[in-house]
Amino acid sequence: MSKNENNLERFQLLAQHEHVFACPLCFNPLKVIAYKSFVCSSGHCFDFAKQGYVNLLTRPYQTKYDTSLFAARQHMNAIGFFEPLISRISESILRLMQPHHESLRILDAGCGEGSHLKSIQNQIRERAKIAPLGVGLDLSKEGIKMAARGTSNAIWCVADLARCPVMERSFSVILNLLSPSNYAEFHRIMADDGIVIKVIPESDYLQEVRAALNPNASRKTYSNEKIRELFKRHFALLEMERVAYRIALKKEQLHHLVQMTPLSWGASESLVQQWMNQEQAEITVDFSIMYGKKR
Ligand SMILES: [Zn+2]
Repeated sequence: MSKNENNLERFQLLAQHEHVFACPLCFNPLKVIAYKSFVCSSGHCFDFAKQGYVNLLTRPYQTKYDTSLFAARQHMNAIGFFEPLISRISESILRLMQPHHESLRILDAGCGEGSHLKSIQNQIRERAKIAPLGVGLDLSKEGIKMAARGTSNAIWCVADLARCPVMERSFSVILNLLSPSNYAEFHRIMADDGIVIKVIPESDYLQEVRAALNPNASRKTYSNEKIRELFKRHFALLEMERVAYRIALKKEQLHHLVQMTPLSWGASESLVQQWMNQEQAEITVDFSIMYGKKR
């Protein structure tokens, strides 16, 4: 499929689901005009980018995440680094959202380069033979540009999570994976029978990388108590599960891992190089998944 056909398909998807979107300035409904722009009833206008996404920011932002970080995450997703996590989330969505599979609509708040949302959509399609719509929001234009490459049953928007450009109660599943939250907004845009899924790193996540790159850092007792409490203040906690596993990575993959994680920030360059030049290493992956619903 040519790039233009791919874009046309994407804008058709946007037109088909325009009722889900709201103007980030006034929250009036947005309408697709001439496959070119999103316009609200107050006349605020947002043009579609030729790369197949829409920028719904009300002012430009600088984010610290750059293209190499997103490329690294995409690579790690492709080699299955997150597979057990993605698999568990997909299973749980199908289990918790029964019998509403037909109307599933998934929003990934802080989607980055989109590979988690795409993988979850693929797994749901394989398991349940349904193709839920996905919407990915991220503050980073670089991430969203990357997400919009190739085909996917998803709409990609550069957007501020503090003003999610979607209508209230419009999503049955809100994903928030290893990314900051805006619970008031999640509450507004979530369907009354919907779920919010938040993933946080646990104490053993990448412990080998931490130990090697910050050997002198005192190992603080690590607790997610505050994150859990904040989550429970906004949502009824349905379930919480821990997903922990070890994965063997080769040299090339260690490079991507280091680029994907902020852990190396602050470590000396020689230490980072030395660590990345091992032939292979066993890495611990350790996450908690929280599932919440409205009270
Ligand atoms: Zn408006």
